[in-house]
Amino acid sequence: MSKLWSPELWALTPYVPGEQPRDHVVKLNTNENPYPPAPGVEAALRNYPADHLRLYPDPTSLALRQSLARVHEVEPAQVFVGNGSDEVLAFAFQAFFRHGKPVDVPSITYSFYPVYARLYAIELRTHPLTASWEVDLSALAADSKRSGIIFANPNAPTGHAHSLEAISALLEQVTDNVVLVDEAYVDFGAESAVALVSRYPNLLVTGTFSKSRSLAGLRLGYAIGSPELIEGLQRVKDSFNSYPVDSLASAVGIAALEDDVHFAACRERVMTTRERTRQRLEALGFEVLPSKANFVLTRHPEMEGAQLFAGLRERGILVRHFNTPELSDFLRITIGTEDEMESLVEALEVLRA
Ligand code: PMP
Repeated sequence: MSKLWSPELWALTPYVPGEQPRDHVVKLNTNENPYPPAPGVEAALRNYPADHLRLYPDPTSLALRQSLARVHEVEPAQVFVGNGSDEVLAFAFQAFFRHGKPVDVPSITYSFYPVYARLYAIELRTHPLTASWEVDLSALAADSKRSGIIFANPNAPTGHAHSLEAISALLEQVTDNVVLVDEAYVDFGAESAVALVSRYPNLLVTGTFSKSRSLAGLRLGYAIGSPELIEGLQRVKDSFNSYPVDSLASAVGIAALEDDVHFAACRERVMTTRERTRQRLEALGFEVLPSKANFVLTRHPEMEGAQLFAGLRERGILVRHFNTPELSDFLRITIGTEDEMESLVEALEVLRA
């Protein structure tokens, strides 16, 4: 053990994302969008004046925040931006969850939350999902003496989404702490809690360009909430790096936000393919949890998750398998193109035979 590392540093277990191969595989393991970003993105990249990179970016990222404010029908003062929503979440943990009191989270959720909690020495109080694999909002709200609540809606990796009514009911009950709703997957059929931010000053909603905007490689994420919460995030960010979003990413992000038609068409295609995939998997005897995200969580009563994962991998199809007791039976499968899902179903037919 190196003496240069503290016991805390040795104990850190970083988040390990799914494999990112560049060779030819059917890649259904990290919930990327199978369709290209809006055509305006390519134009923005091609036309970006290289000389602009000589200068530091706008430290307030105003143009990008204005663009997000327009799309989400809020004020720019209610918008914060960062390098992917992972970074925005990190700032939120630092700003709002470090009060020495626990943070309430569902027991099955995005696996980055425990990583941040360990990194910032924040205690997580976990609450099991309901029998139908839904985030138990009343259990999250039940305890007191907390520094906040965080959950993903739709949840990952289950895909279930709560209604705005259910989220409002939680917010009526929890008024003194920050409630963070991670909406990385909201655009694939769920309702956005951004509609509630003007009513609840303690609500912070995070979002990303990685999924529905097809820009996972660009690293752009955002948070929307009351100006008070946004200022809190800004304070943490400025203490860390006052230029978080680079000028090129801002320009490209704005181009993506300007194309409503491409956005709607891609979402629609993913949702249609999700429904068709569900039917095909169920016909093969799989249980498929209802999903409002660009992935499904599925298991077969007679086949082990690890075996299915390995069999698919051998056939050049990457999906996600979580080696935890609750999820080891399951596979999380990203919704790709129709052709990719066809390859998946064909491979599963062979594996089942
Ligand atoms: N939240 C959830 C629930 C996710 O699954 C992901 C993607 N892995 C993120 C946030 C982070 O996305 P990004 O950093 O690409 O914006």
